[in-house]
Amino acid sequence: MPEYAIGLDLGGTNHRAAVISRSGQILDKIAGSVNFSEGRTAVMDDMVNAIAQLREKHGAAGLAGIGIGVPGFILLKEGIIRRSPNLPFLENFPIRDEIEHRLNTFVILENDANAAALGEKWMGAGTDVDDLVLLTLGTGVGGGIISGGRVLRGAQGMAGELGHLPLIAHGNPCGCGSQGCVEKHASATAVTAMARLLHLGDNISSKEVFDLAQCDDERGAKAREIWRVMGETLGLALAMLVNTFNFPLYLLSGGVLAAWDLFAPGMMRTLEQNSATYRLTKHTTRIGPAKLGNEAGLYGAAYLPWIEQRTAVG
Ligand SMILES: [Zn+2]
Repeated sequence: MPEYAIGLDLGGTNHRAAVISRSGQILDKIAGSVNFSEGRTAVMDDMVNAIAQLREKHGAAGLAGIGIGVPGFILLKEGIIRRSPNLPFLENFPIRDEIEHRLNTFVILENDANAAALGEKWMGAGTDVDDLVLLTLGTGVGGGIISGGRVLRGAQGMAGELGHLPLIAHGNPCGCGSQGCVEKHASATAVTAMARLLHLGDNISSKEVFDLAQCDDERGAKAREIWRVMGETLGLALAMLVNTFNFPLYLLSGGVLAAWDLFAPGMMRTLEQNSATYRLTKHTTRIGPAKLGNEAGLYGAAYLPWIEQRTAVG
């Protein structure tokens, strides 16, 4: 009987892997850098070595499988990253099959925000529900939808790309090729872009915009205005999601959550103004912070082998 699974979170600059028991305990963790200047082969070698090292330490017999979370649009059935601005070298490369063959074990490829949403459902803020939405607010905005305890994937695996909901007509151009996406208006990057436009600083971070908002002067007022606008944009996105899903729980994660008190009032006001479903279900619809932070993706990736059926490789 398998006792653990390995979750790997692959980012643009690093990868992290964790050994997680069936009961959700992190038994081991390892991290490495992703340096594409060394080429795709070197990055694949690094990942495979990290997993092999963990498997060796914890025993091959107890391994249920490996889940890998990646940023970008994936083809689930094929185990391929179709498009990823952060990992262009891995686009259209059979990453899942390659790892599966090299390690001779069951591997599932998943979008990183989908994995994070599943992690929150398994061990985080969503353990008491079967249906939830997660928005990860970072340099971009990721989205994951859990329905009936499972990741909602759509036909190819690209469902839940909530950061690219076209929220603002003729809005800012986005790396995905569209305009006015949620992530161009409500991410940490959007906050710093607004701060630049308001002359608060050319290289100002979202944390600094948060700090500025505490100041009782003109710059502080501008910073508070930025958080208000960011919150209202999020509120609109949430209104669409609440109307679409009528789920009991919508989670937000990411560093900008430190500014919750600054953006949440505008977010909740806008949500209420724009969603009849929310107005009718206010007492049971929760909007709140996620719990697992950076670990959510690792939990979710590791949980995938336990709940997904796919013919294991021989
Ligand atoms: Zn976009």
